[in-house]
Amino acid sequence: MADVVVLGSANMDLVVTTDRLPGRGETIAGGTFRQVPGGKGANQAIAAARAGGTVRFAGAVGDDDLGRRIVAALASAGVDTTAVGRAGVPTGTAHITVAAGGDNTIVVVPGANGTLTDLLPAHAYAIATADTLLLQLELPLPVVQAAATHAHALGVRTILTPAPARPLSDDLLAAVDLLVPNEHEATLIAGVDDPYRAAQLLAKHCDVLLTLGERGAVHVTADAEPVAVPAFPVTAVDTTAAGDTFVGVLAVALAAGAAMPDAMRRASAAAALSVQQPGASDSAPTAARIDAFLGGAA
Ligand code: ATP
Repeated sequence: MADVVVLGSANMDLVVTTDRLPGRGETIAGGTFRQVPGGKGANQAIAAARAGGTVRFAGAVGDDDLGRRIVAALASAGVDTTAVGRAGVPTGTAHITVAAGGDNTIVVVPGANGTLTDLLPAHAYAIATADTLLLQLELPLPVVQAAATHAHALGVRTILTPAPARPLSDDLLAAVDLLVPNEHEATLIAGVDDPYRAAQLLAKHCDVLLTLGERGAVHVTADAEPVAVPAFPVTAVDTTAAGDTFVGVLAVALAAGAAMPDAMRRASAAAALSVQQPGASDSAPTAARIDAFLGGAA
């Protein structure tokens, strides 16, 4: 029995640094090269496990070295990887070029992630035995819909991070308990320019937790006053995966029975810790670090 099951993407991020982004048709010299396990699904699973949750990851990798290294990274963070499928195509990769000053380009090759078009029996079982399901939009939409419908029918709390942003059907929103968009995602999905207005419109379908970067997060529901929780004032050096850390830790706190404002505060603390370090999943804090940070902030 896992508190939290994450159905989502697992990629190897292949990151090169350059002085500047190359022009069209141009070849330039790179600086450093790093391979970092990533994908929003794997990032959320690692953040949730490091924060002390019992976490299972349901996804797919290829039968290749990159896939084995991603599974090893998940396992070493304490994530149960027994529901990770092996696809007959290569592991998903994200090809990231980061120029001095922070400009970047990213090409994502879905690979094994793209083979998950329907719910595998192992994934359906993982969902049925969990308290909370975490979903994002880096897998094909039909499997996201199938997982949300399955979880909804079983009364498993379903939290959807709608990234990368795309229009969502009313059917999918109706099967979700909590939608966690950032401002860009909220406005795109609701089709209005104002993120607060967008959150109010989306809250007609499901609860909404709108994240606002360094301005914190606000919980918007159809029948209660919005609850805002500020971000912790810290000096950010790398905000990559702040949202994934936030959601992973939020899910663990909710699964443990925390009230929403307390879960939001814990998730904000974890995200504040993660943005102070370079990296993505590797910068997610442990439960002990979150406790110490909150103790110091109290
Ligand atoms: P990303 O795409 O970078 O993973 P996101 O756009 O999904 O992030 P954000 O709204 O940027 O999500 O951030 C999620 C939460 O992380 C915020 O609600 C806040 O609590 C925390 N956070 C983000 N940026 C900062 C920051 N600079 N300082 C402190 N906390 C931050």
